Amino acid sequence: MDLKNYIGGNFSNQSGNEWITNLEPATGKTICRIPISNSEDVQRAIKSAKDAQKDWGNLSHAERSIWLDKIADKLEEWSEEIAELESRDTGKPISLSRSVDAARSISNFRFFAKIIRELDVETFEMPDAMNYVIHKPVGVGALITPWNLPLYLLSWKVAPAIGMGNTVVCKPSELTPMTADLLMRAINEIGLPEGVVNLVHGNGIETGAPLVESDDIDFVSFTGGTVTGSKVAASAAPDFKKLSLELGGKNSTIVFSDCDLDMTVSGVVRSGFLNQGQVCLCGSRIFVEEGIYDIFKQKLVEEVESMKIGDPLDENTNLGALISKEHLEKVQYYSDLAIKEGGVLLTGGDPCMPTEFLQGNWMAPVVVEGLSHDSRCSTEEIFGPLVTLHKFTNEDKLLKMVNNTRYGLAGSIWTEDLVKGRRIAELIHTGMIWVNTWLHRDLRVPFGGVKDSGVGREGGKWSLNFFSEVMNVCIKDK
Ligand code: NDP
Repeated sequence: MDLKNYIGGNFSNQSGNEWITNLEPATGKTICRIPISNSEDVQRAIKSAKDAQKDWGNLSHAERSIWLDKIADKLEEWSEEIAELESRDTGKPISLSRSVDAARSISNFRFFAKIIRELDVETFEMPDAMNYVIHKPVGVGALITPWNLPLYLLSWKVAPAIGMGNTVVCKPSELTPMTADLLMRAINEIGLPEGVVNLVHGNGIETGAPLVESDDIDFVSFTGGTVTGSKVAASAAPDFKKLSLELGGKNSTIVFSDCDLDMTVSGVVRSGFLNQGQVCLCGSRIFVEEGIYDIFKQKLVEEVESMKIGDPLDENTNLGALISKEHLEKVQYYSDLAIKEGGVLLTGGDPCMPTEFLQGNWMAPVVVEGLSHDSRCSTEEIFGPLVTLHKFTNEDKLLKMVNNTRYGLAGSIWTEDLVKGRRIAELIHTGMIWVNTWLHRDLRVPFGGVKDSGVGREGGKWSLNFFSEVMNVCIKDK
């Protein structure tokens, strides 16, 4: 199957004849080919978005919210197809793509439809004047997304961006184009005005870079790695494009000895290995208080070893395949590096290939202990099924270790003492933190990181602010 770009309400071929073959991570078999769009294709998509922006921007919030709900309805109708495509395209277990990817993509459209419909004009009275604040569209946006949560993250951007009156050009990861194509089919089928959402397939250099660089792009919402984010920021800066960057992470998990041990072990395993550890929020550096270190370690390893690795389309699978051969090699490199840095592998590290999937990208989950908290393995983003265990004795030393990374995206704290939980939470240099839970998301709250994990916040009203220009009108009494 060959996918097409979606430009101006039509599925169309790229101008050249360059293709990327998209492989299924679990089997290594071809799922589809995607076009490599060049700057000519990108410019066509941007022009289509630009032509559509004025009329679309003139609709009311309520009118645009109706369209968001229509997209949600269509995705809901196709939710099983979303789950299957996402599972095949990313290698993640179908139970996860059903409960997270499909479900969240639908709820993103519904959630933003609701809050945009309910968005009030804020007013500020002065003794002799009145101010009111309106949200105007920014214009034409570039939406660039990674491979780990393909439709989930694309819908997280498309819904508020078009809901606030912008038109967009999307560039999904070349590794996971299937559900982005499905979203375009949904948009096409409901008859969204042409040009409001456009999509170009391709790679970062030939497709993503010209999209960000274009003079006709007014804002860029990028989710991906920190190195790419820095290039995107550099090319967006000269034109002062509005920019949101959601980047990499190396998140800490803190386990105090007064935690509920069984609940904590399950929570920490989930946070370390969900989606094979390929979630930007995954807690891959685990700090455990000395008093329970040994028992926690034993239970953690038991639970990690009990996870079922296998066919992503099997309902009972807990861990699927890694996204690509290159990524598997990167994670294996860090597993070998852990030993060179003085660590001990408590479990995992071997190639793990269910016989029917010999050409896929498989790896048994790894738990390492004995590394220094500032080793490369425990400070660099690995983004795979590998966690490091560290012992701590007091809060001061703990905070120094936890804050000693270039990243600051998320984290979790496990303790029965909620006063302590809150105190420690507020001392960690990060954008988000959970206490006694992980990835427990309310769509109204801000999402984003500090330091090298990003710039700006999305989520709830923060998304509405990013995807609009806020304007104040001050009217003085006579
Ligand atoms: P990349 O940074 O490699 O790619 C992200 C997107 O950018 C892809 O669509 C990619 O295209 C595109 N791209 C690459 N180069 C350029 C360029 N020069 N200009 C414009 N676009 C470009 O990230 P990954 O896809 O590997 O995703 C994993 C990373 O994403 C991890 O670091 C993870 O932490 C982070 N992430 C962050 C999240 C957050 O909310 N903070 C959420 C999820 C992931 P192509 O794939 O075709 O190269």
